[in-house]
Amino acid sequence: MKMNEYMERTEQVVLHTYNRFPVVFEKGEGVHLYDTEGKEYLDFGAGIAVFALGYHYADYDQALKDQIDKVIHTSNLFYNVPMMEAAEKLVKASGMSKVFFTNSGTEAIEGAIKAARKYAWNKDHATDHEIIAMNHSFHGRSVGALSVTGNPHYQEAFKPLMGGVKFADYNDLDSVKAQITDKTCAIIMETLQGEGGIYPMEESFLKGVKEICEEKDILLILDEIQCGMGRTGSMFAWQQYGVMPDIMTCAKALGCGVPVGAFVLNEKTAKASLVPGDHGTTYGGNPFACAAVSKVFDLFEEHDIVGHVRKTAPYLEKKLDELVEKHDCFTARRGKGFMQGLVVSGRPVGELVKAALANGLIVLSAGSDVLRLVPPLVITEKDIDEMVEKLEAVLS
Ligand SMILES: *Cc1c(COP(=O)(O)O)cnc(C)c1O
Repeated sequence: MKMNEYMERTEQVVLHTYNRFPVVFEKGEGVHLYDTEGKEYLDFGAGIAVFALGYHYADYDQALKDQIDKVIHTSNLFYNVPMMEAAEKLVKASGMSKVFFTNSGTEAIEGAIKAARKYAWNKDHATDHEIIAMNHSFHGRSVGALSVTGNPHYQEAFKPLMGGVKFADYNDLDSVKAQITDKTCAIIMETLQGEGGIYPMEESFLKGVKEICEEKDILLILDEIQCGMGRTGSMFAWQQYGVMPDIMTCAKALGCGVPVGAFVLNEKTAKASLVPGDHGTTYGGNPFACAAVSKVFDLFEEHDIVGHVRKTAPYLEKKLDELVEKHDCFTARRGKGFMQGLVVSGRPVGELVKAALANGLIVLSAGSDVLRLVPPLVITEKDIDEMVEKLEAVLS
């Protein structure tokens, strides 16, 4: 069948909530995807920062196949081995205390919000606690997650949303202070803003927020769904700042393609928040999803994936800086590790993304004017050269 026919048939039956690019992918290998007509694409989007290990990474597929042969699902009414293993590895990698597995990032955010509210409720039994979130943030599309997403365009048609949310400016400590009241129970932010336009957090800002949180017993929730799992050069981006959150959310690369998320609590929060009856999900902690998580942590360690990011990221940054230098349509580079953005001026970023795709290169956009690069963490300098070559061909 022709790609056009697949697309038309899809549009007939799938609700049109995405303006999809005109390509139908069939398979992947390493850092490349192939469409149904056999065309090759270099993937610097990684399924939106999901495929950290690329496609068919050594032993990853086999671990999933082995788990399928054992059992895929059992429910949370019982224990299972992969859930224990995955949680142990997530706790070890983060130095935090307890894990709740979800099926997506959005659900991890929902759980984090509930844990924070319960923690505050335990102290005073008040039901009007407030959460401070950031402008230009992105935390998901369900009503709770959307309520803390600082993008009026996403929110408008779905009001009334969850109450008690106030917005402050990212990297502006005074604006956070201005929103704090006696009712504030949590401050939620991405350690590196992704969808909003690739904005890294300033160290003084994070340290300042943490200080306020400790002083007032407000919980700090760091959303590591996109920037976590090694992408910025440490397993979790906050580890580079030496500031541990009270609650962390994970998803995207956590299962490297299998839909899974988690929220992780520190000791203090785990001890005094959610208890049996407070929260649940049928699929969460599913043996299949957790076998993926467990294997991902093993492979990250065996192959020193984070070390590779730290070693290779300076090359990517240098190449991107050269692009900014050379081409007027790029005015700046922002980002950390393998989470990079080029600020585009003078032409719509969507057009650039589309042209790159036609030329066999997958890149993404972020915010209104940022070209986003979130490649698999296993890319080499050669892949980076190929990316630059393909992008330059589109610019000229
Ligand atoms: C993608 C994303 C989410 C939402 O995750 P889903 O798995 O799409 O529900 C939340 N926060 C951040 C920072 C994200 O990048």
